[in-house]
Amino acid sequence: MSDTAAPLSFEFLATDGHARTGRLHTRRGTVRTPAFMPVGTAGSVKGLFPWQVEELGAEIILANTYHLHLRPGEQTVRRLGGVHRLAGWERPILTDSGGYQVFSHGERCRLDDDGVTFRDHIEGSERRLTPERSIEIQQALGSDIMMALDDCTGQPTDRDAAAAALRRTTLWLPRNKAARTDATAALFGIVQGGVFEDLRRESLECTVAEGFDGYAVGGVSVGEGREEVQRIVALMGPRLPEAAPRYLMGMGRPEDILDAVAAGFDMFDCVIPTRHGRNAQVFTRRGILNMRNARHKEDPEPIDKACGCRVCRNFSRAYLRHLYVAGEMLGPLAGTWHNLHFYLELMEEIREAIAAGGFAALRARRLSWLEEGEQT
Ligand SMILES: [Zn+2]
Repeated sequence: MSDTAAPLSFEFLATDGHARTGRLHTRRGTVRTPAFMPVGTAGSVKGLFPWQVEELGAEIILANTYHLHLRPGEQTVRRLGGVHRLAGWERPILTDSGGYQVFSHGERCRLDDDGVTFRDHIEGSERRLTPERSIEIQQALGSDIMMALDDCTGQPTDRDAAAAALRRTTLWLPRNKAARTDATAALFGIVQGGVFEDLRRESLECTVAEGFDGYAVGGVSVGEGREEVQRIVALMGPRLPEAAPRYLMGMGRPEDILDAVAAGFDMFDCVIPTRHGRNAQVFTRRGILNMRNARHKEDPEPIDKACGCRVCRNFSRAYLRHLYVAGEMLGPLAGTWHNLHFYLELMEEIREAIAAGGFAALRARRLSWLEEGEQT
């Protein structure tokens, strides 16, 4: 990074093995790392007011460029003062490039070396996404941390497909960078390469040579086994530039986050806590409980006795089960609240443990609880 007015800076506080804790300073404030970013797909974290997201301890959220581009449209968002103003969230927002959602529409998109043509899933109209267009949309939204458009079509276990996606991703790196006109917004590059070590190393080298404000590793939670994920995470983390934030995209479960922090990653996002919360899947230190299960019908215990969240302080499993089974709106809201509290509290514990030199012990303890499973 050669710019003198850097759009973000990363301040180290402590390291413990490869794990690090620090502060990420952005134009809209500071984020303590390792950080979990709740996903606000269309500008809202489903089921929570922004002040609740803040109360739960989130310091940054993720918004999806594809969804906001289609509805309400980035120019509407821009005219209304940007996504922060619109959504009532003043802290930093990271936006993805839109590519992942476009590509996940499969046969409806046509990819070439310049970009991708796709049909949107709402109106069915034909649209085009290129690196230039992605950055233009992210800037119109008012993103604080933008992601470079990459080709994430490669099946992680298909070498030819992973190599082709890597070639195109590399081709697009300088175009993403050149498209940025707002020098105060940060831009992260994304390392691809599937499960193949040589492709991952090559992608990392090209991305770092191009130079970004931060580095993300993509394509690691799209169907590979947990061992493959661990291998790539352990390979990539320590090799990414030390002075820049390292973001593992779309990960993951608490155990995945513990693994990735151990490998030196700083930023995470995942729909799991919010989506699971809506679907009656709630996190405990000993694994996930399904609150619709009949065994909770008269269970007076909270979800997790060790959890101090408002849901656990006030509601029994029996009441939560009743809410979900009766289709009460409060069930999914309560599950979302607890799950995000669980994730954000885990991140707090991780940061404190790294600062105190006790991260390995914390990780071992949390993983052993998960292995033992629920205490009955
Ligand atoms: Zn709780």
